[in-house]
Amino acid sequence: MQTIKERYIELHPKSASLFQQSAQVFPDGVTHDNRRYGPFTIYVERALGSRKWDVDGNEYVDYVMGHGALLLGHARPEIVAAVQAQVIKGTHYGANHVLELKWGELVQKLVPSAEKVRFTSSGTEATLMALRLARAYTLKSRVIKFQSHFHGWHDYAAIGAVSSSGALSAAGIPNAVAETMVVLPPNDAGAVEQVLKEYKDVAAIILEPTGASMGDAPILPSFLGELRELSRQYGVVLIFDEVVTGFRTSTGGAQARYGITPDVTTLAKILAGGLPGGAVVGKAEILDMIEHRDAQWDASRRVPHPGTFNANPLSASAGVAGLTLVAAGKDNEKADKMAVRLRKGMNEALNRQGIPGCVSGVASMCHIRLGRECGAALNASDHSICTLAAGETSAGVGTPAHAALKVGMLNHGVDLMGHKAIVSSAHTEADIDLTIAAFEETMKELIAEGALARRGGGK
Ligand code: PMP
Repeated sequence: MQTIKERYIELHPKSASLFQQSAQVFPDGVTHDNRRYGPFTIYVERALGSRKWDVDGNEYVDYVMGHGALLLGHARPEIVAAVQAQVIKGTHYGANHVLELKWGELVQKLVPSAEKVRFTSSGTEATLMALRLARAYTLKSRVIKFQSHFHGWHDYAAIGAVSSSGALSAAGIPNAVAETMVVLPPNDAGAVEQVLKEYKDVAAIILEPTGASMGDAPILPSFLGELRELSRQYGVVLIFDEVVTGFRTSTGGAQARYGITPDVTTLAKILAGGLPGGAVVGKAEILDMIEHRDAQWDASRRVPHPGTFNANPLSASAGVAGLTLVAAGKDNEKADKMAVRLRKGMNEALNRQGIPGCVSGVASMCHIRLGRECGAALNASDHSICTLAAGETSAGVGTPAHAALKVGMLNHGVDLMGHKAIVSSAHTEADIDLTIAAFEETMKELIAEGALARRGGGK
């Protein structure tokens, strides 16, 4: 019998050759750390709705979905029309324009904390600006973050972060920067309070509000409430990094879903309708640290914010079209429903095969755990999970089964995001059912190759 790897090589001759060329151009042959997998990667030629096609003519149901940017699927007609109409009118005015205003107003309407809005070009820029604003506003410097929470790749964010390939190294980050970051275990309000008591110079608490890595290591909603209380009590800026969860966990993000309003929120991905873009939004008095006032303020307290591509017309056109659809509510409902069908079906497949593990997640994000028993009970209605087992920081990093999962699923026409599936409103019941069948086949292959074992060790 062919191995997973042999089958993959047979299916992708053109991608194999392009990857060889890429290795001469890009470190690792890729342009994003998390796009590195397998003996080589696929080269995608086009995408539509829930599907994408590679240069070898293979078709995939896509669950990378633009790293989470494509809640509405690939090439959604309303977004395509908006971008086409805009591109011929110019892509950069170097001036204010009406679409950025509409875009900002939609963000204000949807996101509870968004009293004021400032656009950036990426999520990394948004979290960098959020920390700067919090520090300037409080005149304090220390920031509390949580183990494995990902806030982009700038120096402050990289401390204590992991990506799907494992812990991020702090190489190149000055000690003076690292020392301003306090990394704590999530879901432990006592640990947060202890730091707030001990250090008088804490400016901000930042977190992914559904948990590390898109909710892979879940946050208890009660913890969000505890952080809100503590941050008020100690005069600390509470920042929700909703780069992923914004417009996904509800039309107003995790803050609307759980009814906890942070002081500052960072956004990107879905915000810009599939084009590059981010934003930092929040309390007017904090965002207004960017405002010019008088000479003394401007020279001493003001936070400057240029950025060539901030609110560029193309991203604004896609953002307005996308958020207008999100505001109508139907797309979130559909994506969530499809994700529950997927989690339920995959969990049933794991049970049928007697494989330890589970598939969990909030709203349209799914995390696949293989080879280890589920650390906590799954919610029967939506297959969400409350926490991982003590000491675990991820459902899926680092096991042999996870390394082979992506390639095994590609062989069956499904492109996962590592051990995650990001569902969109373009996914259909047929897509989901095909995926569940592909998953069950891949599980059998992983067992045959010894990358995964059934409970009790059976083959
Ligand atoms: N915050 C979170 C929670 C993210 O998941 C990401 C990217 N995956 C970022 C920030 C960084 O965003 P970007 O890639 O747009 O810089």
